[in-house]
Amino acid sequence: MQIQKNISIKQFNTFGVDVKANLFVELKNENFLNELFSSVNEIPNRFILGGGSNVLFTKDFNGIIIKNLLPGIEKIGEDNNFVFIKTGAGVNWHKLVKYSIKNNYWGIENLSLIPGTVGAAPIQNIGAYGQELKNVFHQLETFDLQNNQFKTFAKDECKFGYRDSIFKKEFKNRFLITSVTLKLSKKEDAILTYQPVKEEIDRLKINKPSISQISEIICNIRRSKLPDPNKLGNAGSFFKNPEITEKKYLELKKANNDIKGFKTENNKYKISAGWLIEKCGWKGKRVGDVSSFEKQALVLVNVGKATGKDILDFAESIKEIVKVKFGIELKEEINIV
Ligand code: NAP
Repeated sequence: MQIQKNISIKQFNTFGVDVKANLFVELKNENFLNELFSSVNEIPNRFILGGGSNVLFTKDFNGIIIKNLLPGIEKIGEDNNFVFIKTGAGVNWHKLVKYSIKNNYWGIENLSLIPGTVGAAPIQNIGAYGQELKNVFHQLETFDLQNNQFKTFAKDECKFGYRDSIFKKEFKNRFLITSVTLKLSKKEDAILTYQPVKEEIDRLKINKPSISQISEIICNIRRSKLPDPNKLGNAGSFFKNPEITEKKYLELKKANNDIKGFKTENNKYKISAGWLIEKCGWKGKRVGDVSSFEKQALVLVNVGKATGKDILDFAESIKEIVKVKFGIELKEEINIV
């Protein structure tokens, strides 16, 4: 394990922002964790990086960046109905989805093509097209950076919420996730509640879609709407979809009959942040080398040599204009460093 000094992390973040880290290390084996953290004990500033697809670096990083590359996908148990799959936190998320599809293990096919690593998935409880990680989550293993020891978290302890968990709140930056175990179904368990998925199934005249057909449909929807970070720097949705009160929703609905709201478990209404941005006239808008993506306003893109600060300023302008026009405060989904 080699600690590198003063290196550019442009290739390690999907925004393609060119900042430097004064220390950088690739973690490929959890047996090195004790050694690594004893040797960097005096460095307070540490950042655990997965796929770099949910982070915006706004300046050089003065500390150590640990790129989590912990490998392995393993079936560790099963019964008649379920399998337990333990995966190294550094594995690419879609690689795990492909493994589950190949083996006909249901539960994460709707989460196809979400960028990032398996270790990052529980931190924000990734979700898409009617499915959330928490619904298939069993447990995760971590290394406690405060006490230099391993600790396992059961589902309840993770305090999952909408794109949220304990690892974004009180335990932010405290634990390095080493592996995640999911409980996937051996029996068909299709979730086809979202309109774009239903429409595509109807268009293709499929009666009972297979796990691979669902994954393919979702991959196609995502590819048609979202920019490929290898071609255009971005980190997917920049903001969370806000949840507002029923009163506020009805007010908005009165003035805008094209708004769509979805009632949540806590009796609020979830609305589309992309729709709000679009209504403010910022869909496809460009300032310098930053733009809101022309097909999905919620995605901010680096169209050239934008700095992290340029992207942050652009995002702040969006927040301001949405607040003025709708009285709604957008919150970042991505990590600002
Ligand atoms: P979208 O499909 O335009 O949906 C916009 C909003 O409406 C979201 O809040 C979505 O809730 C909600 N919604 C749509 N249909 C719904 C239904 N039938 N029942 C309940 N709620 C419904 O969103 P998008 O921006 O194009 O993204 C597509 C999907 O990918 C969404 O599910 C989105 O959440 C997901 N996504 C996830 C991540 C992540 O995990 N980091 C990043 C980007 C996009 P939900 O958000 O609960 O789905």
